[in-house]
Amino acid sequence: MRAVVRGLIEGQWKDVIVEEGFIVDVCEAGVGVITGARLVDTAGLLLPGFVDVHVHGGGGADVMDASMEAFEQIAATHARHGTTALVLTTVAASREATLAALAAWRTPGPWRGADVLGFHLEGPFIHPAKRGAHPAEHLRAPSPEELRAYAEAGPVRMVTLAPELPGADEVIRTAREFRIVVSLGHSASTYDEAMRAFDLGAQSATHVFNAMDGLDHRRPGLAAAALDRADAMVEIILDGVHVHPAIARLAVRAKGRHGVMLVTDAVSVVDMPEGRYWFAGAEMVYRAGEVRRPDGTLAGSALTMERAVQVGLAHGVFLLDDVPDVAAANAARLLGERRGRIARGYRADLVALSADGAVTHTLVGGRLVHCA
Ligand SMILES: [Zn+2]
Repeated sequence: MRAVVRGLIEGQWKDVIVEEGFIVDVCEAGVGVITGARLVDTAGLLLPGFVDVHVHGGGGADVMDASMEAFEQIAATHARHGTTALVLTTVAASREATLAALAAWRTPGPWRGADVLGFHLEGPFIHPAKRGAHPAEHLRAPSPEELRAYAEAGPVRMVTLAPELPGADEVIRTAREFRIVVSLGHSASTYDEAMRAFDLGAQSATHVFNAMDGLDHRRPGLAAAALDRADAMVEIILDGVHVHPAIARLAVRAKGRHGVMLVTDAVSVVDMPEGRYWFAGAEMVYRAGEVRRPDGTLAGSALTMERAVQVGLAHGVFLLDDVPDVAAANAARLLGERRGRIARGYRADLVALSADGAVTHTLVGGRLVHCA
């Protein structure tokens, strides 16, 4: 099966030639002889499809619903906003509920959404003082045995961990054994504790600035360590609410275009009407684009990658040239996935944007899954 996807890449009209789900060539538009191939002319800006390593839900579905129907609904919802690969993210829950989510995963046939790369366990190994929306009764000390049980139940790709908790070192070692990316977060750790965890093999920080100490010039903590550490990646929730654009700009300057990845931390409310929703075992209010617990605590987001890119560009957090890195390539590289670049040999995951930054086409493995 051959397809040709036409669009503007780095200022030039190009044809991306796709075979069996992969990019086999990128050439000047209309130049190659293309017989028997389907042409998708996006007439827009063509970028690598967005990769989101932190997604709890969308379209009314939640990862903790623990069903393929829910996972597909999430994947389809985010694909409409340009995401072509995502990591289903759990919340702190009972061991049984977490195992149920992992065990519900089956390798799907072709479906109408983003590819699922596996699971991100956000909890239970997080600090009570920085738990955010995660239920206190389901927080536990890091346990290598428990992580092992999860890794054996399903495709775990990432784990968020508070490095100052007892047992954290052992869990980092176990995660590395299973090639699971350790992301530090929901943590009260000091700078030194965070640096030690990075030395042990942690690679990322979960939604930097949120659910950790902010930047304090005398008493640096995890946020400072993650910015200071050249080889650490940081997630940013760029909805304009979780992190002020000024701080996001500072973060991108500190990390450079290869050290930041946009994430949504989206919950089930994406593409749903405002109202009351259930998330992480409690009721949340979705109103005016924000998701909060009744006490006002932010509880995930209603963000899409499409919107995160728009917010970043509007506030000068990054330039258009940086979008392929911060919205796709960096996350793909962190997970060791051959995606996130429009280049030969990479998976044909593509998104097209209109001049005003709206997603018009989403292609997953060369297959059109969304067309506005
Ligand atoms: Zn989250």
